[in-house]
Amino acid sequence: MTYGLKTEAAFDSAHFLTDYYGKCENLHGHRWRMVVYLDQPHLQDEGTMRGMVLDFGVFKEKVRALAKELDHTFLVEEGSLAPATIVALESEGFTLTVLPFRTTAENLARYAYERLQAIGLPVCQVDMYETPNNCAIYRP
Ligand SMILES: [Zn+2]
Repeated sequence: MTYGLKTEAAFDSAHFLTDYYGKCENLHGHRWRMVVYLDQPHLQDEGTMRGMVLDFGVFKEKVRALAKELDHTFLVEEGSLAPATIVALESEGFTLTVLPFRTTAENLARYAYERLQAIGLPVCQVDMYETPNNCAIYRP
């Protein structure tokens, strides 16, 4: 038996894929839609969250906070741009999110999973849509 919750948040961010031969090698943006699933065998048995997996308000706030952190930033794989390029972009006032992985939807789904799990959410799955029809799923 298991109980689940699901919520979502979206963010608009740019990226490009290194070593990719197609239009995604060029800088472009997506409206990333992140759908997060929680899974817990028992409901809470006391306090204001009695009978709940987690308060939806708390859940939504944490998912939105992660989306806000990534929103309107340039998602850059560490080492994929020359250091001088990074300096130049930052000096022009652009906000970069440098990540230690290739910025695919699959890796971003795993990243969101790990970030939300690290703050104590019982996450079981993250869906990361990079277009309305294309979605990568991470489920450990
Ligand atoms: Zn893309």
